[in-house]
Amino acid sequence: MLDLTGGTSKVTAPEKRDGYFNPEPGNPAAIQKALFEISNLVGDFEKPRYVKFDETLCVHSRNQQTGCTRCLDVCPAGAITSAGDTVAIDPFICGGCGGCASVCPTGASTYDLPADNFIYARLRALLGAYRKHGGKTAPVLLVHDTTHGDEMVGIVSRAGRGLPAHVIPFAVNEVTQVGFDFMAAALD
Ligand code: SF4
Ligand code: SF4
Repeated sequence: MLDLTGGTSKVTAPEKRDGYFNPEPGNPAAIQKALFEISNLVGDFEKPRYVKFDETLCVHSRNQQTGCTRCLDVCPAGAITSAGDTVAIDPFICGGCGGCASVCPTGASTYDLPADNFIYARLRALLGAYRKHGGKTAPVLLVHDTTHGDEMVGIVSRAGRGLPAHVIPFAVNEVTQVGFDFMAAALD
């Protein structure tokens, strides 16, 4: 959807909505960029399901007493609503920022792109390889996204001295998906 009406966007968190573009009508460069991105969106579109939700672990409410609203408080897209004792996550509104998963205290909401525990397996492999190949200094993880972050890491390498040897770049879909579980796994 190319929205050139300006002003208030038609959806919440427009920057997080796959397939929605609302460049400023008075900004030709922004419109050109949107048109360029739209020109690549040809064919079938499968909306990614970013979050896996296990309602049995959700402690949103019991006996009409609210216990947890963390994900509701952080979701920028308005994809999460209260649904009795648990919450409901609308996968069609979800923009995949990962905020809900990173603040969920029980693991009811987990980020699922990539699916399952692949991210931890990759983390273990990277840190294991660092140690195995003689990394003595405590490694530093540079968690970045796959768009802007990838570009920045590339620029640092091409135009500068590159990252220090003990800094390990770690690409994820959205940096906001990283929570305490990831940090605890990295420290383990
Ligand atoms: S990942 Fe979670 S917080 Fe982010 S938009 Fe989707 S439901 Fe909302
Ligand atoms: S943060 Fe987790 S436990 Fe709390 S309401 Fe959301 S899904 Fe449920």
